[in-house]
Amino acid sequence: GQRPEFETLLAWVEPFGSGAYGLATKYWTATERNTLNPPLEGILLWNRLIWIGIGAALLAGAYALYHPAAKGAKPRKQERLRALAEAETPVAAPLGSLPAASHGFASGWARLVSRTAFEVSMVFKSPAYVVLILLGFAFAIATLMFIGEIYGAPLLLVTRVVISGLQGAFGLISMVIAIYYSGELVWRDRDRKFHEIVDATSTPDWTFLVPKTLALALVLLSTAAVGVLAGIVTQLIKGYTDFELGKYLFWYVLPQAVSFSLIAVLAIFVQALSPNKFIGWAIMVVYVISTIVLSNLGFDHVLYAYGRGIGVPLSDMNGTGDFAVFSGWLDAYWTAFAIVLLVIAYGLWRRGTETRLLPRLKRFPRRLFGPAGAIGGVALAAFIGLGVFIFINTNVWNEYRTQKQVERLQADAEKTLLRYEEVPQPSVVDVRMTLDLHPHEPRLTTNGSYVLENRTAAPLREVHLRWNDQLEMERLTVEGATVARDWPEFSYRIYRFATPLQPGERRTVRFETVLAQRGFMNSGNTTRIVDNGTFVNNFEFAPMIGMSRDGLLTDRTKRRKAGLPAELRPAKVEDESARDRNYIGVDWVTADITVTTDADQTVVAPGDKRSDTVANGRRTARFVTEAPVLNFFSVQSARYAETRRMHDGVEMVVFHDPAHTRNVPRMLDALSNSLDYFQANFSPYQFRQARIVEFPDYASFAQSYPNTFAWSEGLGFIADLRDPTKIDYVTYVAAHEFAHQWWAHQIVGSDQQGMTLLSETLAQYSALMVMEKMYGKDQIRRFLKFELDRYLRSRGTERLAQYAFKSAPYPRSLDLIAALRAEAPADKQALITDLLEKITLYDIKTTGVTATRRADGRWDVAVTVDARKLYADGQGKETDAPLNESIDIGLFTAEPGKGAFAQGDVILLERRSLRTGTQTLRFITTREPKFAGADPYNKWIDRNSDDNVRPVG
Ligand SMILES: [Zn+2]
Repeated sequence: GQRPEFETLLAWVEPFGSGAYGLATKYWTATERNTLNPPLEGILLWNRLIWIGIGAALLAGAYALYHPAAKGAKPRKQERLRALAEAETPVAAPLGSLPAASHGFASGWARLVSRTAFEVSMVFKSPAYVVLILLGFAFAIATLMFIGEIYGAPLLLVTRVVISGLQGAFGLISMVIAIYYSGELVWRDRDRKFHEIVDATSTPDWTFLVPKTLALALVLLSTAAVGVLAGIVTQLIKGYTDFELGKYLFWYVLPQAVSFSLIAVLAIFVQALSPNKFIGWAIMVVYVISTIVLSNLGFDHVLYAYGRGIGVPLSDMNGTGDFAVFSGWLDAYWTAFAIVLLVIAYGLWRRGTETRLLPRLKRFPRRLFGPAGAIGGVALAAFIGLGVFIFINTNVWNEYRTQKQVERLQADAEKTLLRYEEVPQPSVVDVRMTLDLHPHEPRLTTNGSYVLENRTAAPLREVHLRWNDQLEMERLTVEGATVARDWPEFSYRIYRFATPLQPGERRTVRFETVLAQRGFMNSGNTTRIVDNGTFVNNFEFAPMIGMSRDGLLTDRTKRRKAGLPAELRPAKVEDESARDRNYIGVDWVTADITVTTDADQTVVAPGDKRSDTVANGRRTARFVTEAPVLNFFSVQSARYAETRRMHDGVEMVVFHDPAHTRNVPRMLDALSNSLDYFQANFSPYQFRQARIVEFPDYASFAQSYPNTFAWSEGLGFIADLRDPTKIDYVTYVAAHEFAHQWWAHQIVGSDQQGMTLLSETLAQYSALMVMEKMYGKDQIRRFLKFELDRYLRSRGTERLAQYAFKSAPYPRSLDLIAALRAEAPADKQALITDLLEKITLYDIKTTGVTATRRADGRWDVAVTVDARKLYADGQGKETDAPLNESIDIGLFTAEPGKGAFAQGDVILLERRSLRTGTQTLRFITTREPKFAGADPYNKWIDRNSDDNVRPVG
């Protein structure tokens, strides 16, 4: 979905039809999505037909390849056997004594190896395996070719990214192989009527069971190997040659080996017990479905989810972190269980003609005497012991809540606390904090104080304090106040002042908190405090003032079920009382933050770094703000490399992983260009530093804090921008985040409809201006097309769209519109209405272009345009509106936004008045145009931006 030009391709080739469905409903409004199904026509119809056809062909092919005769001897062999039988029976030579059956370790090992090799070769030679593997290989390459693209620009295909793609691409195929071949391996001898001979030999049962299990695990491992091959092939295609084989092995192949072996054991176990292989297969399919259904129903504890384990998010900064250790405990637990399963399967192994379960159950206890029973006993003890240890981690040291319990808590919090949302609160005006960070434990203790001030016009009797659910509040005191109400379950407290806080009066709040994790959790293990790449903000480790909607239920269905209104709407734009708060929910403050961390790490927090010292293996750095900042701070700590540059008196620094140097100069260029543009066009920058600080790819966003931009390693550090025709989103993101230093960190909108217009819309605009300055008008066309696509999509869920450092009443979107109106000439007023007060859509289509050579050598060009304008209401219902606007008409020698399109390809770009309906616009040019169109750079919100430009002729 990130690349408009590939959407159509994807819609054709994607087997499940969701791509085609998405394309058919791409620009649908909320109303349309809720009430209509797309007609079964066009690509959607063809996609369905093609894939039904392919499915049928595969089925027919499978049937054709399935030769019942192959179960016995092959035809040629049959002939030979017949010939042998018909030949004269030779006189039997006198027999010597039979070789003695051997039972030593060496012979057992030899048997194991030869039996396993035999079983593996049976699978490798089967056509179904080859087909599945080839499918997986092709699917993996197709996935990896476009993985992680942003604005159509590729990622550098580092091994970590490849592995994340492979984990998705091969999962289903491995499952199919495990289920199918478990049945084949266990039942093969019986299916071929060979079992009585095999079973009559002196070979012990384990020589059947263990090799079959091992073989299946090896076969599954081969899918991982093919995945690695697909990864390396794609890396080569993409021109990436730093193959990190260690990461392939430890981050992909070995973890897959464990989980595949667990699946193999379960599948073999089921087949060993079931009366025939079809029932065994059915049980496995039901099992697979049940794992999905049960976890959706809230049964998601790792103790009973066989083989699932704990997710290991990958990061090149932080490796597998502690997650691999957590996952290791679960693997050990399920491996012990799998051994128990194997011993049971051994005890109940079918031998000879007896297939009924009951007689096998009767002899089961006898079969457990000896090594099998001992192994089973040890495994069972390990399973129980590890289970207890895991339970202590997930349910004793950490709190375990099912999804349902979490949702109930969210609903209860809303019912209990939302009524306090508008209770007037004192403002925090000064923040002092001392943080003690231990990345490896992981633990962060914070000692802090706030100065509160009553900035309202009336005395305040209470202050409300709330904090992050994961945070332990060790101490919390409010000067001159006592706890009036406490909801520990919601981490919410009301303090009542002994004497009400008068307007302008100040009080101090002191707090001590611990943000830590002991052992591991069932899910949601912290990704915030990690060995290398801690990134926390003060909403996580310090108390906040007043009630907020953050963290309340948002899903409409779940809200209704919980007896809540379907949706929490923001306050109406006319609501003056909503201006008491800004939408971030924090005040303008001064701050003094001291952070201590491990000596080998660098720590970055907002403000000017006043000191940085190392003592006793610990580093301590102090940051002091030099301008008012929103009470919203990041603290980051890692083993960083620093790349810096001075530009116009501002120190620009990128704190990055030593290996992530590729786009650092680009980031610094973007910051420099942004600073120049913003200072020239807006106002002076309020700080002396601008810092980009990398964090691990546990989330992939960038976020603007005072003079500090937290930036994910997955977002721009590994962007592959070698192709200059690709959108340079690294520059775009840097400019956008820097622009927030004005739009959010100087002017912040009130908490009501249109709240983000003053921050997001203006940051977006500012970044576009920087892009235009750096790359030219013509290059940002492709970028605008992506943005247009995003707008039209997100509209499906409905949205509306001299104040620096201003507190309550906070500015509104209306104030910006009024300011724009004051500046704009009379003929642009209607445009402001359309752009900012209404949801306006256009349908501009170039239906014909002709160019004819004139006698004087110049060209007569005629461009025929169909145009239409629509207004949509909040529900997405559309009505026609008269169009009468001047819109760009462009004539070009190449297609805008494609390939190396540049300024030299623009023959003419001028505004012409367009009206509703069909019209022909005429031009005379000196060069012959090859492409022409209306609104060629997609500046207007056009429901179909692909038909704006067309080739001449
Ligand atoms: Zn933003």
